[in-house]
Amino acid sequence: MVEKNTVFVSFFALAYNQNTDTQVFIKAVDSAGNITRAGFTKYLKKKRFKKDKIIIKDRFLEAKMPQFDLPDGEKAPDSLVAKFLKVNNQIRKENAARIKAITSKTEPAILWKGAFLRLANSKRMAGFADHRTYFHDGKKIDEQTHLGIDLAGYSHDKVTAANRGKVVFADKLGIYGQTVIIDHGFGLFSMYSHLSRVDVQLDQMVVKNEPIGLTGTTGMAGGDHLHFSMLIHDTFVNPVEWWDASWIKNNITSKITEIQSAMP
Ligand SMILES: [Zn+2]
Repeated sequence: MVEKNTVFVSFFALAYNQNTDTQVFIKAVDSAGNITRAGFTKYLKKKRFKKDKIIIKDRFLEAKMPQFDLPDGEKAPDSLVAKFLKVNNQIRKENAARIKAITSKTEPAILWKGAFLRLANSKRMAGFADHRTYFHDGKKIDEQTHLGIDLAGYSHDKVTAANRGKVVFADKLGIYGQTVIIDHGFGLFSMYSHLSRVDVQLDQMVVKNEPIGLTGTTGMAGGDHLHFSMLIHDTFVNPVEWWDASWIKNNITSKITEIQSAMP
């Protein structure tokens, strides 16, 4: 039984590669299995993302590739570039599947409050949904999309929780290296990668700005930086929006208070 005046909350997120004509609707199923669908007013803004060129040097491959294990029984790649391509594609896909599994469960409460924090005193090195073309020896070898924001400050810089939540992952994660994922409730997650040290444990509750580890170069990182992502379940969304108090008010909190104040 649902109590009278219960507010149901759901975040709707479009992936970077979904068009603005994507169908967005609410589907509700009652306990008898009756299904109702309803549309709602929405404003989807077109966004263009940057193109970036990544030069892969032998020195980088020599330093990074030995860290990665390919699945047992698989033939060893005959060059470092061949191994890089396996890591950048196969391991990337495995990592995405792992992230999908981790973010499929979430706390049924809004654990966070106010704007999410950005790594203090850091410079943005790469943006959300940058389309990356990889070159080696002047030849194009791969293409991928960068689904986070790279922030660089000091080496081994203190990384803190962007907002309150529960640690749902604190371990190595392939190309992302040592990673922490925090569940902020209702399917909203933040992710911190390439850490040199992790200072939190699975299932630990963290408050906003609580230290969770140090930046580093673990996984597929050339220099010391934090790769920061925000997700609605397994859909990567633009962290810039969650760093912005007005965006949060206009798109999230005002919608909830509007409904609450309209209730008898
Ligand atoms: Zn990154």
